[in-house]
Formats: sequence, structure tokens, C-alpha cells
Amino acid sequence: MELRPYQHETIAREREAFRRHRRVLEVLPTGAGKGTMAAWRIARMIEKGKRAVFLVNRRTLVHDMANRVRKLGLEFGVVMGDDPRYKPSAPIQIASIDTVRRRHRVPPADLVVVDEAHFACSQGWKDALARYPEARILGMTATPIRLDGKGLGETFDEMIVGPSVEDLIADGWLVPSVVFAPPAPDTSSVPKGSSGDYSTSQLVEVVNTGKLVGDIVKTWMEKARDRATVVFAVDKRHARHIHEDFVKAGQASGYVDDETKDDARQALWDSFDAGRTRIICSVGVISYGWDHPVTSCIVMARPTLSAQIHLQQLGRGSRPSPGKSDFLVLDHAGNTTRHGFYEDAREWSLVGTARKRKDEEDDEPGVQICPKCFFAFRRGPAACPGCGYEIPVRHREITASEGELQEQKRQALLHAHDWARQAPEERLKQKYHEYLTKGRQHGYKPGWAAVRFHLTFGIWPKKTWASEGAGLAASDRERSVHDRSFKASGATGD
Ligand SMILES: [Zn+2]
Repeated sequence: MELRPYQHETIAREREAFRRHRRVLEVLPTGAGKGTMAAWRIARMIEKGKRAVFLVNRRTLVHDMANRVRKLGLEFGVVMGDDPRYKPSAPIQIASIDTVRRRHRVPPADLVVVDEAHFACSQGWKDALARYPEARILGMTATPIRLDGKGLGETFDEMIVGPSVEDLIADGWLVPSVVFAPPAPDTSSVPKGSSGDYSTSQLVEVVNTGKLVGDIVKTWMEKARDRATVVFAVDKRHARHIHEDFVKAGQASGYVDDETKDDARQALWDSFDAGRTRIICSVGVISYGWDHPVTSCIVMARPTLSAQIHLQQLGRGSRPSPGKSDFLVLDHAGNTTRHGFYEDAREWSLVGTARKRKDEEDDEPGVQICPKCFFAFRRGPAACPGCGYEIPVRHREITASEGELQEQKRQALLHAHDWARQAPEERLKQKYHEYLTKGRQHGYKPGWAAVRFHLTFGIWPKKTWASEGAGLAASDRERSVHDRSFKASGATGD
């Protein structure tokens, strides 16, 4: 098993953290390979004769983790109800928290790994972790927040934040997203359920309509026909409805839920990887650990109040795969407006409330959706980077509550984007070279300058600019600069 450089670096930092504290939380974006890192770490421990327990809170995750550990050829047991894989002598135990908190004796552990650690503040988790007062606790998550906005400081002493999505895209470990967000259902009348997210039974009434499901199929046929696609639905009925409409439209669609038998599920994954099944309509089973890099389109049919769920779903599309330069998001749920883009810089803290912005230059102008083509982009440009439609001013206004300073920043950014649309290419290239120089001075990764340039000017620098000096061919001057991600989607038709 080979680790990537940033994975080694993160593990080294964790080792440092464990010298100071017993309970450490690791934060890495979805798609960064947290599961692989955990398995690698545990393999090293086993070599030293130590024992580890993976604590997970759902049946599906027990199976995912068991598959992963099996692939590595490591010996393990499962502690979950009367699961037949019970094997107390094995050095690795995969245990469900419900079983651990109830059993008289728990499997011994030097290290307890907590998957999906953002849940770890619930009473069930607290009870389970209390059974391990001496062991080191390692939490893993992409989103260290709770739905109530509080942090995980009660459960963890120190947090290690690995590279950002931007870093991972710049280095080629993930691919960027291209988002279209057609009109979403109005969820203002849907109450919250006990989980803090929308009440499923009432949400489905709003989303499971012939019109909305029809829109999903129509949008997909227009924009994603060549893409291996995963659909996230609200409940089984809703998922089936979407699946049946895809089948009626002549598409190779599959359906999966938590009652799908293991064999049938595996057959569906194999068929998907082989390109025979093009669309999987799912509810509740495709989550953390589901790793199929061929996925290049995510259909969001489930509105959610959870940034964690939003990012986890996006993460299913972000793995690189041969011939894949981006992944398409068809957001029919309004989640991009609620939670932002996959690439957004996010700032985490153990004491709570994630903020989407990171520093003053990164300052995000919010999400803008083109009323004509539904392309979603960072607010700023006066025209849609997708279709060129002039966005009416009222669509570009922000709410007064964001304050004066915010308004000034927005104006500055609007100005920068407007300027970039008309600036001669030499000037843009010059700006890009300024960022390249700054990046080199600070020792940033090669892709940093391009990402920074995009955030400021709303367009991507041309690949050739990096190798070119200050001079510029006259023919290049005439050509406008397109948004890289949009161009890559092939949706401009040019
Ligand atoms: Zn447009």
C-alpha cells in the first residue's frame, strides 16, 4: 500500500499531536483517502503487536470497512450483534457503537478509530468512547461540525487539518466540479426532523412530483448523457420514481437502497464500473467509503441542511479517473446555494461553526446561478461565464445584513471580474505571473497561482501562460479567456 506525500505528512503531524494529546481529530476533504490512511496506520500498529478497533455507527459502514481491511489482507473480526465474522482473537476489530456500549466486555484497543467523527458528540458515541479511557482516539472527518453548528471540542483535544480541496485539485489528486443548478423545490414549509435535517416524510411530498423528477431526467439528457452518474434521492419511493423515469427514457439505470442484498449491490457496482449501468439511483447507501472514480456526474435530488452531507455527496464525483478532467453536478435540490461549492475554502475549529471563507483574498462573493442556462458560479461577473447572458443587476445584489465591508469587498471583486473580462491578455498574464512569483516565494504548490487567479478574476489562466514570458503573440490577444471548468464540460459547444 502506497501513501501519497500529503498523506504521509498528515500522519506525521498526527503522530506529533498524539505526543501532546490522547484524542486527535483528523480533517481531510472527501476523496483525500482517509480510509486508506487509517488502514495504513493500523497495519503499522499490528506489526508492533498492538490492537485497534474501528468504531462505526452504521451497518453499511461496518461492511465498507470490512471490505477495505480484507483487501489489505489483514486479519479482523466484526463486533456487531451476532455477526458471523466475530473473531475476538484478531488484532483488528470493526465494531458498531451500539454493540460496544451494551456489551459487558469490549474488544481491547491501543487505538480506537472513529469514522465519521462529526457524529461523535452524540450520547451513543460518548458512551462507546467512555469504554476506552486509556486508548488513543483518532477521529476522521471531512466536516468537523455538528448540524447544530457546535464543534467537536468535547470529544477531541486537538485537530489536524490536512490539505484543502483546492490543494488536492492543484496537485491532481481530485478533479474540479462544474455545477448547474436548475430551479429547486421550495422547502421553506418543510420542518426539521429529529436529526436536525429536513423531515424526510414531509420533504418527499415537496420533491417527489412528476414535474421535478421529469426535470431531473431532462437536465441529465441534455448535459450528462456521456457521464457515469449517481443520483441522491430523499427516500425509496423518490429514488424509484427517478430510476423508473430514467428507464422509460431508455437509459441504463440501476437502483439501490439499504435493503438491496450484498450480492446484488456488488453486481450493481461492478456493472457501473464496467460502464453497463450508467446511472445509479440511490438512497442512504452511497456515502463515506463508496469509492468509484468512474463517477463523473452527481445528481442532487435531496435537499439537505447538512453541509456534511452536501460535501460527502460531492466527494463521490471528485476522484480522478482516466479521461476525466472534471465532474458535473446537477443540483436540483438548492444545496449549492445553501452550502457553496465543493472547492470553497472552509475554515474549521474545534469550538464550532464552520465558516466558508478563509482569508480576505479568498473572500467569496456567494453563489450566482445564471437564470438562463442554470450554470452556477461565484458571484461577481456581470455576465454568465457559461452562456454569456447579462445577469440582471437585481440578481447580483446581496442582502443588507452582510454589511458595509462586505459590500466594499463585493464591489472590489465585481470590479476585478469586470476588469478581467476586458483586459488585454498581456495584463492578465502579467497578473498571473505575479501570483506565480508569490507562490514560489511562499513555497506554495504549483497550482496555487491558478486557483488564486481564478478566485480573484473569475476566470482561469491559460495553461500556456506559465511557460510564456512577458511577451505575447498577437493572435492570442484576440482570443477571450474562458472559464476552464466550464470549457472542460463541453457545454459551451465550442
Ligand atoms: Zn448562463
